[in-house]
Amino acid sequence: MSKAKTVAALKRLSNLYRRMDAAYAASATALGLSCAGCADSCCETVFRHHTYCEWAGLWAGLAALPKERLDEIRSAAEDWVRQHQNPMLPGVRPRVPCPLSENSPDDPPGGLRCGLYAQRPMVCRLHGVPNILIRPKGGQSAFPGCDRAQDLGKTCEPMLLDRTPLLTDLARLEMDLVGRERLGKMPRVDLTIAEMILLGQPKI
Ligand code: SF4
Repeated sequence: MSKAKTVAALKRLSNLYRRMDAAYAASATALGLSCAGCADSCCETVFRHHTYCEWAGLWAGLAALPKERLDEIRSAAEDWVRQHQNPMLPGVRPRVPCPLSENSPDDPPGGLRCGLYAQRPMVCRLHGVPNILIRPKGGQSAFPGCDRAQDLGKTCEPMLLDRTPLLTDLARLEMDLVGRERLGKMPRVDLTIAEMILLGQPKI
């Protein structure tokens, strides 16, 4: 993969992230939803990510960090994987902060904020507000939003975020970056943030 092609793809990804943030802000504003003071940290949720381009985007941010910070993050990622592989209570998924998270000074004790905010992937960006996805073969999936969003939605009409055009553009970007034919032959990405950290930069 030429450096110029990767740089161009990451620029497109960052423009797409801006559109996602704008769509999120419109939906959150309509609901009056804010993350301030929330103790139910979604950065302890197990999110899975599915594109090489977002994996490369995450690593563009990681590679720019000081070595000491990157070492800390790697160690937190190892710990995250260990705790998920050996849960204290068998069958109960542990709540472990994402290795990229940091303690938030603005939230209740235990509140977290993203330590790689500009490069956080789509799932992290769109989590929280009620949203829908129209499937290419018909039908749609709906997500009601986080608990706080659902409470707010009881007293006002929620403005649903439509993920469809955003996901379509992400899929197009993935295809352009990796190539349609190669993409079909490469392993499907289905990784947590911790796994993307420990695996290193994607080989594309
Ligand atoms: S990448 Fe950032 S926003 Fe996403 S779960 Fe990790 S800390 Fe939270």
